[in-house]
Amino acid sequence: MTNQPSTKQKIIRTLRNQLETDLFLGGRWLPMRSPDLTVTMLKKSDPKIIAEKQNKLETLAKHVRQCTKCPLHESRTNGVPGEGHSDTRLVFVGEAPGADEDAQGRPFVGRAGQLLTKIIVAMGLKREDVFICNILKCRPPGNRDPQVMEIEACDKYLYEQLDIIQPEIIVALGAHAARTLLNSTEAIGRLRGCTHPFIPAPMREPIKLVATYHPAYLLRNYTQDARRRVWDDMQLVLKELNLPIPKRNT
Ligand code: URA
Repeated sequence: MTNQPSTKQKIIRTLRNQLETDLFLGGRWLPMRSPDLTVTMLKKSDPKIIAEKQNKLETLAKHVRQCTKCPLHESRTNGVPGEGHSDTRLVFVGEAPGADEDAQGRPFVGRAGQLLTKIIVAMGLKREDVFICNILKCRPPGNRDPQVMEIEACDKYLYEQLDIIQPEIIVALGAHAARTLLNSTEAIGRLRGCTHPFIPAPMREPIKLVATYHPAYLLRNYTQDARRRVWDDMQLVLKELNLPIPKRNT
């Protein structure tokens, strides 16, 4: 006797995975919403603490908009500090603003941002109940990769944001975010699929970090396999947060 699945079981499992992945990000995904899911997503801190955290994030955002610490301020239209709930359990960190983000001063509002919003909704969450920001707060010209000196000039803002919010989980979107936060040179394919400890500041408790593919990569490689991996990573995030994995309503 063997515990290996039969060929028939393997085919059924593959078809089920494909169907589920098609539904996720396929436009027909209707997440199950439980009435208190939004509340669960937030840490439910004392209102005074929430207001204090909000004030600190707003002050930091003002500094970002006036920042001249690296040459990117010369070509930016707007600094893009980040946005979302100060008392959230979940923070998404991307690479750097693109053209749409630079124009509006808001993170992830272009095509990649629309896909990120879809992923968040597919997780059964609301965009306004998480916090979304980037490693770099200003757009690199032509969307080129961030340079080391730019990251070094800017990462203090991100670490401060994470220290103010103190989320339970950070999702690093793409190789630049994952490598910067984990101080690693590994490929994103090797960093994804598990949780890593991230220490936001000396003497702080580590925060769990899940790395996954950047939504812009997913747009360029909209394959069953890539979508499956992102969905697996998001299920891991939900599991770590003790939240239900959404099922289709129909
Ligand atoms: N890509 C990013 O990494 N961040 C944004 O804000 C937009 C696109």
